[in-house]
Amino acid sequence: MAKREYPLDHTRNIGIMAHIDAGKTTTTERILYYTGKIHKIGETHDGASQMDFMEQEKERGITIQSAATTAVWRGFFDQYEKNPFRVNIIDTPGHVDFTIEVERALRVLDGAVAVLDGAAGVEPQTETVWHQATTYNVPRIVFVNKMDKLGADFEMSVNSIHERLQVNAEAIQWPIGAEDDFEGVIDLIEEKAYWPTDDLGSNWEPREIPADYQDIVTAKRETLVEAVADVDEELMEKYLEGEEISIAELKAAIRRATLNLEFYPVLAGSAYKDKGVQMMLDAVVDYLPGPLEVRPYVATDPKTDEEVDLVADDSKPFAALAFKIMTDPFVGRLTFMRVYTGTLQSGSYVQNTSSDTRERVGRLLQMHATSRTEIEEVFSGDIAAAIGLKNTTTGDSLTAVDHPLILESMEFPEPVIELAIEPKTKADQDKLATALQKLAEEDPSFRATTNQETGDTLIAGMGELQLDIMVDRMKREFNVEATVGAPQVAYREAFTKDVKARGFFKRQSGGKGQYGDVWIEFSPNEEGAGFEFEDAIVGGVVPREYIPSVE
Ligand code: GDP
Repeated sequence: MAKREYPLDHTRNIGIMAHIDAGKTTTTERILYYTGKIHKIGETHDGASQMDFMEQEKERGITIQSAATTAVWRGFFDQYEKNPFRVNIIDTPGHVDFTIEVERALRVLDGAVAVLDGAAGVEPQTETVWHQATTYNVPRIVFVNKMDKLGADFEMSVNSIHERLQVNAEAIQWPIGAEDDFEGVIDLIEEKAYWPTDDLGSNWEPREIPADYQDIVTAKRETLVEAVADVDEELMEKYLEGEEISIAELKAAIRRATLNLEFYPVLAGSAYKDKGVQMMLDAVVDYLPGPLEVRPYVATDPKTDEEVDLVADDSKPFAALAFKIMTDPFVGRLTFMRVYTGTLQSGSYVQNTSSDTRERVGRLLQMHATSRTEIEEVFSGDIAAAIGLKNTTTGDSLTAVDHPLILESMEFPEPVIELAIEPKTKADQDKLATALQKLAEEDPSFRATTNQETGDTLIAGMGELQLDIMVDRMKREFNVEATVGAPQVAYREAFTKDVKARGFFKRQSGGKGQYGDVWIEFSPNEEGAGFEFEDAIVGGVVPREYIPSVE
């Protein structure tokens, strides 16, 4: 038996979530760089990105796959050198078309970093993913990125969190300068300023807080203490009694409040200019939960119908959720799983309680940024990819053969748009059938059907961009030659608040949509003053000419 390398309190399963273009990919790359797993900083849009390993993602510069990458964090000042943290990064997509991919990632991660564009603050898709994360009780820290960008404004970004997300969030850092003059970061908790001492931002040193920042630091630290004390009794008592609050006490209170989803620490940086990412990683281990600090995942015992709480424990029977199926060019089908309880050894059998089949796990892999390691055993609270599970699809429960459990699965909403696809030849027809089956297994929000009247093959999904990418993959990975029809709305139905909650909708009538949003037609209400949600009709996909140009 292998030995557990990282204790549960030194394990973090996190996601990086953001509005598209806020800098999620760049931030993730810098994390991988600083955790020592990659040695070259690749530019996303040059196609050298480490996380976006699928071709069309590189071309489009969009992260789609929820690949999980394992990194090791030794601390900003190597303070965890002897006892490092394992940080598994579950990649969450930023585009609203892939909201289903976001949901599946949120299921298996314990905490998240919300990345904002420091010049834009909270944006529409930030709101969508933020609310999804709230639904799944995921504690979050906020990284205000792009502090070097023209128009970057940290205070505006913090205020936009209050206004648009309506949550208790305050700065735990303050940027020194902004735009071209963004130089370093002040830690408001320790009241220390940090400056990089080299171009790559690998080395930093603490210095005196600049004189013109003294007042800001005093005021913002007070704001922070008050905001945390508001939701933390222990800190409130000290605060009211006027007692000195130590750094350790303040940090502990921030941790408690963040884990309770009552507070969201806000950090400043520029991934592109290599500033603030290491401090953000310190905040990940300081304020985001380990697997033992989250609500237990609920499973049902199929024999008794009783609910069982899954709390990470290696001595319990194995239970895991398959959250992602990927086809890897080297090893074939990979099943990514989050292990909740027990351990799993390579070569052993698991029960797939969703399909009621027994399957043998071939090899187990841990994916790093530039390499993969074969492991003998995966432990509770960890994430690994299995080779050899042929009948497992996304959302399936995998458990010990003699302890079957059904893990609360994911809901896959109905597709909203569809298009006809016509293979060129008989050979293409066969390839298309294979492609459709594989792609639907990977992504349950993607469906293929046959139009009963015309006999056409229809593919349906959550948005135009998702279908574009699926068509692209059919061509590239499965060599299907086909003609593709125009996107149609898969259904017309009265627009209910339910639909809104699922995040398909983002616009007001007359407003400009984001590419891929569903276009909603509103009817004015009786006074003609506003619009009735209940009367709105899903009218189509926002036309390309309405897409705001991306800088
Ligand atoms: P994603 O869509 O959220 O994954 O965003 P990317 O990481 O692909 O970044 C989008 C664009 O913003 C790219 O052109 C990046 O080079 C740029 N970018 C990312 N981080 C920063 C930053 O800190 N400052 C500036 N100025 N640009 C950035």
